[in-house]
Amino acid sequence: MAQEMLALEGVRKSFGDVEVLHGIDLTVHRGEVVAILGPSGSGKTTLLRCANFLERADAGTLALGGERFDLAHATKREVAAVRKKTAFVFQNYNLFRNRTVLGNVTEGLIVARKMPRAQAEKIARDCLERVGMGDRADAYPIQLSGGQQQRVAIARAMATDPEIIYFDEPTSALDPELTIEVLGSMRRLAEDGMTMLVVTHEMGFARNVADRVVFMEGGSVVAAAPSAEFFEHPDNDRVRAFLRTVG
Ligand code: ADP
Repeated sequence: MAQEMLALEGVRKSFGDVEVLHGIDLTVHRGEVVAILGPSGSGKTTLLRCANFLERADAGTLALGGERFDLAHATKREVAAVRKKTAFVFQNYNLFRNRTVLGNVTEGLIVARKMPRAQAEKIARDCLERVGMGDRADAYPIQLSGGQQQRVAIARAMATDPEIIYFDEPTSALDPELTIEVLGSMRRLAEDGMTMLVVTHEMGFARNVADRVVFMEGGSVVAAAPSAEFFEHPDNDRVRAFLRTVG
C-alpha cells in the first residue's frame, strides 16, 4: 500500500446553526488522485477549504506528510506550515491582475519562500512550459482566456513543489473547449505523480484520471471506491441516482 500523504479525520463545520460537515474522514495516498463528487451543497468545497484553513473547522484533524494538525485549534505557525506543503487551485483562478504570468508564478517563491529571483524565474518558466503557457510569460491575466488563466494558476501551484494540490471545481467557470485544455494539464500533472484532491463535476476526469472517488451528500461521505468500481458497479442507491442525473 502506498504511503499515506493526507488524512482528514472527523471534520465538522457549521455555518451559524447549520452543520454542513458531519464528521468527514478522507485519506489520500502519495501520488494518488482523488476526486470528490456529489450534488451541489453537499459540503465538498467547504471540506477542501477546511483542509487548507481557508475556513476554520469546528473539529477534526489533518495528517499531512507525517505531521498532525488540529483543524479547529491550529496556531498561525501551524497554518503556515500546512500552506507551505499544499497548493490550492480555485474555481476563478485568483491570479494577480496587475502582475504578468511570470510574476504570478514567481510571487509565492520570491515573497513567501525567499527564493532568489533568477531561481524562481527558472522554476516558473519550467512550470509554465509544462502547462503549455511558456510563450505567454509576459502577458497579463486579462489578455488570456479563462482556460489559459487556469493553466497559469496550475503552474503557480506546481511551482511551490507542494505535497498535494487541492483543486476546487477548476473547470466549472470554463466553456467546454477551454475545459479540455485545463483537464489536459491536470492529467499530465497526475501522470507526473502529483498527489491531487479534486472537487469536480467532470465525470470524464473522475473516471479516467482519478484513482479513487469520494462521494459526498448532505455533509457526509456516502461512498468511496476506486474510480472504475465507483462508475461501473456503484453499490449505493444514492450514487446510482447521482450518476443517472449526471450521466
Ligand atoms: P458544495 O461544494 O458541495 O457545493 P459547499 O461546501 O459549497 O457545497 O456548501 C455546503 C453548504 O454550506 C451549503 O448549504 C452552503 O450553502 C453552505 N455554505 C457554504 N459556505 C458558506 C458560508 N460562507 N456561509 C454560510 N453557509 C455556507
